[in-house]
Amino acid sequence: MEKRPRHRPHREYPDARRLVLAPDLETCPICGQGLKSRRNWHSRKTIQTLNGPLFVAGRSKECQNPACRNYGKRYYAGRVWLYSLPNSSYGLDVLAFIGWQHEHEHRQLVEIQRELNRCGIAINERNVGKLYRHFLALLGASSQAVYPKLEATVQQYGGLIWAIDALQPEGYGTLLYVLYEVLSGRPVAAWQSEHVTEQELVDWLQPYTELPFQVLATLSDGEDTLIAALKACWPQAPHQRCQAHFLNNLAEAVLDYDDQLRKNMRQDLGGLPGVPEHPPDPPPL
Ligand SMILES: [Zn+2]
Repeated sequence: MEKRPRHRPHREYPDARRLVLAPDLETCPICGQGLKSRRNWHSRKTIQTLNGPLFVAGRSKECQNPACRNYGKRYYAGRVWLYSLPNSSYGLDVLAFIGWQHEHEHRQLVEIQRELNRCGIAINERNVGKLYRHFLALLGASSQAVYPKLEATVQQYGGLIWAIDALQPEGYGTLLYVLYEVLSGRPVAAWQSEHVTEQELVDWLQPYTELPFQVLATLSDGEDTLIAALKACWPQAPHQRCQAHFLNNLAEAVLDYDDQLRKNMRQDLGGLPGVPEHPPDPPPL
């Protein structure tokens, strides 16, 4: 759970919509076996979005294959970080809204604050300015700044998994594209545009393709432009897109495992004497 800074007002949102997310990965990217869900949440908070308050929590999964070098490693619900930045209680859609209004509509921060207040978002002008700076930092994220985090992830997991998602603030034409690294669960870069082509996405991703790290997989929804850009940037990495694909992989791995397990059990238990019959109760005295 993220720590609440002391100056942050405590707000209660009993009617917040609830969203509990699981990791995008169904199988371990190293050994291919199914991951086991963990009960605990690795992240939980309530954020203010343009659509009202939203409770977002993430569950993790872990690899339970003792033969795998990622045995016991946790895989987090990376999409949690697509709703808000770490340590922020505002939705990314609010950041996108502030950025677009200020940069493209040339509206003053105080005007944007009033508009947000009208949408039911409790925020003061100072925090609108702060979110605008977060927005700029997210858009300007350089490989320099994220490099040590990515390097640590590669050491821990043996590679990276890149994912892109497009976020559209309700009722506004602009899209915020977010590139995040799934294993560390961190947003790495963002880009705001009304419409993008595959080539523009490829150009945006270019600095990340030059990083000297192995890429285990790429993830996105089924949008053709996103898939094409990810495949063009990381042609060696398998792209995963839908649950059906995961489930097929999962079933295959489990079938082999199940078969082997049955053989092993037969070998281990086959030589044991049979279970004795329960002796009849002694006659009453
Ligand atoms: Zn594994």
